[in-house]
Amino acid sequence: MQDEETMAALDVHHETHQTPSATGHRSLSSSPSSSLRTAQEQWRNVCQLMQQRLDNAVYQRWIGNLQVIDATDNSLSLAMPTRFMVDWVERHYADQLRLLWKQKGGKGDLRFVVMNPLVQKAAPATTLSPTAATPASTSADLSVSLDPRFTFENFVVGKPNELAYAAARRVAESPTPAYNPLFLYGGVGLGKTHLMHAIAWSLREQQPQKRVVYLSAEKFMYQFVRALRFKDMVAFKDQFRNVDVLMIDDVQFICGREHTQEEFFHTFNALVDANRQVIISADKSPQDLEAIEERLRSRLGWGLVADVNPTTYELRLSILQNKCDQLKQTVTTDVLELLAQKITANVRELEGALNRVVAHSQLMGRDITLDMAQEVLADTLRAHERRITIDEIQRKVAEHYGIKLAEMHSARRARDVARPRQVAMYLAKQLTPRSLPEIGRKFGGRDHTTVIHAVKKIEELLGNDTSLNEDVQVLKRILQ
Ligand code: ADP
Ligand code: MG
Repeated sequence: MQDEETMAALDVHHETHQTPSATGHRSLSSSPSSSLRTAQEQWRNVCQLMQQRLDNAVYQRWIGNLQVIDATDNSLSLAMPTRFMVDWVERHYADQLRLLWKQKGGKGDLRFVVMNPLVQKAAPATTLSPTAATPASTSADLSVSLDPRFTFENFVVGKPNELAYAAARRVAESPTPAYNPLFLYGGVGLGKTHLMHAIAWSLREQQPQKRVVYLSAEKFMYQFVRALRFKDMVAFKDQFRNVDVLMIDDVQFICGREHTQEEFFHTFNALVDANRQVIISADKSPQDLEAIEERLRSRLGWGLVADVNPTTYELRLSILQNKCDQLKQTVTTDVLELLAQKITANVRELEGALNRVVAHSQLMGRDITLDMAQEVLADTLRAHERRITIDEIQRKVAEHYGIKLAEMHSARRARDVARPRQVAMYLAKQLTPRSLPEIGRKFGGRDHTTVIHAVKKIEELLGNDTSLNEDVQVLKRILQ
């Protein structure tokens, strides 16, 4: 029953990215069919002509970003990662592109589709439709499109991800399994998929004889459910038998699905026992993957478990700088600092914000300034504005000065507690929208005039007491 539901859910999910293909099954190791290759060649010719017509930055942004995902006699499917980009291209370049496409002998029409590059290349239509007359061999759709941007070269290393990076590099370079499995975990948008693709790219380059399969856990599940339905388990198992390196991304998604978990466990064991490299990613560490069976959980932790931690300000800044280099775009430091300071949740959002600013500047012909960035990102920045509380300020300040939290409310006037308390009041005034009486109440029911006094005192000291100045800067940084 659950499998039926899963199946239905996945069908819906896949339809949005689905690009039906008439090219039939592609096997794991075979190269794209010749019709696809011809189409790609013709498309390259079209691109060359467009490149001559357009300004380079404009070309790179729009045409250069179109990815050929499928070719049939009726159409060439071109994908971009967002609806916005697709709409833009359709509105501004589709006519020219269609004309050139015909001129270059291309078959059929051009179709522009939204496809997140992280999502698997859509499988051939026959394997996706649950009503297909013949059970298609499952081994057909392990072909993977790797995101060309997700390489080691493009990965910025910092404290939060250095272990995961080093482990990924090691696995990519080692002729035999380095750690089995390598288990990468961390929050969303912190670079797990990037690292996995990077491993695959590197293997493809340096050890091309190796058969590498990268699969989202969803896809694994989908194929498994399909195989069950079409009673095609032999084929399902077969496809993994000859794999040298298996990567399963976002394994938390197979949690709680007993059948799939069981099968995954067998596949996993078989590969590890055969000394093949397995690489797993998830949003949590193996112990914390709750809905997963105990024996699988413990087995997942046998190799190396490496975490990808939330980014630091420094790492965010270097990622932004790196990204600007890639885009060949100069953005002033104050703008980058604004982004690095405000958009802290994950790297995907950070990149999204930078892209938006750059796109806006290109489309509107505006220079990128602090004001412009603030305007373009107004909604995003508001959403990310952290609501700092007085409690939090008191806690951090107490921690920083090594005094008890209770001293924030106490009546003691000794310098070693009075000064930190004043700093906390000053920060409360600066960083929260609370009124002076409200702040006073939070500090052991003090009068608002005490708060005014504290704020004035600290402001005065900031001018000539460098060590206090540093304390305040550090605290602000921590709190924001
Ligand atoms: P996850 O799989 O952990 O959710 P992704 O690997 O999809 O995250 O990363 C999200 C985006 O952030 C991608 O565009 C990726 O290239 C980028 N990214 C994440 N970490 C880094 C990094 N350290 N250096 C460069 N880009 C990064
Ligand atoms: Mg991912």
